[in-house]
Amino acid sequence: MTVLDGKKTAQDLKEEIKLSVSKIKAGGKRPPHLAAVLVGNDGASLTYVGSKVRSCEYVGFDSTLIRLEESTSEETLLKKINELNHDDHLDGFIVQLPLPKHINEEKILLAISPTKDVDGFHPSNFGRMALEMDAFIPATPYGIIELLERYQIKTSGKHCVVVGRSHIVGRPISILMSQKGPAGNATVTLAHSRTEDLASLTKNADIVVMALGIPEYLTADMVKEGAVIIDVGITRVADEKHPKGYVIKGDVAYEEVSKKVAAITPVPGGVGPMTIAMLLKNTLFAYQRKN
Ligand code: NDP
Repeated sequence: MTVLDGKKTAQDLKEEIKLSVSKIKAGGKRPPHLAAVLVGNDGASLTYVGSKVRSCEYVGFDSTLIRLEESTSEETLLKKINELNHDDHLDGFIVQLPLPKHINEEKILLAISPTKDVDGFHPSNFGRMALEMDAFIPATPYGIIELLERYQIKTSGKHCVVVGRSHIVGRPISILMSQKGPAGNATVTLAHSRTEDLASLTKNADIVVMALGIPEYLTADMVKEGAVIIDVGITRVADEKHPKGYVIKGDVAYEEVSKKVAAITPVPGGVGPMTIAMLLKNTLFAYQRKN
């Protein structure tokens, strides 16, 4: 059984990006610059944004964290986005989701310039991705593709079941794996909460991508011997024995499933670290396109 080590692969990627940045700097140019906008004080969002900023520093990018009050109006946020869209010293930026309830997320995502949309959530980028055109690909599915490629997992002709149809994970990974590109050419089934008899699908899958957010949902009896399992789920589960008061669980019952399959991503240390590395890669692309 192979553990698809996202932590190590992400570190390899960061070293590659760091090298590109040092070459840029050696040429007397400014490094790539990523900004993150965080509205409010959500604990998980603070953690995610914090590690994105630290990763930027690690690879030598410039980074800017813009923190706005929970009570920030939609209008103020839109003005901020407009400023960032026109800032020539900025290559890309992200608006950390979820946003407070009084702000319309769709309106915000539409306001981000597609040329700076390194999260790849703007319809222009999503559409371009679906049409196999040059685009920013959302970091989590992009990270899964990179992981499959680097571990040389054969996807061509394989049956892949994706569980979850969100716009940021399930839907885009189902599109990417059915395309003609790298880690593609799979026959993809996209399952969701209305799917009947999910186990009959996962049991026949060569590759299962779990992206639903229910801890340890996929059990050993639901997978076939020798399958490849990608676990995207990240859920905080209360655990008094742990100093933080919680542990992180994936969507896969790792202990039992890992004994039966050919390859699997752990949680933590699988898809999560890849997501941040691919955000950096998208920012480097944005910089290279501009320069
Ligand atoms: P969403 O809540 O947006 O989507 C969940 C999907 O799962 C929906 O399509 C839903 O179906 C489906 N679903 C829910 N229950 C079932 C069920 N019983 N059987 C089959 N399908 C079901 O989640 P996200 O895609 O945003 O995130 C999924 C998980 O991945 C979360 O744990 C999240 O924290 C994690 N995540 C991890 C990232 C990383 O970097 N590793 C990045 C992003 C997310 P329906 O559409 O019918 O409601």
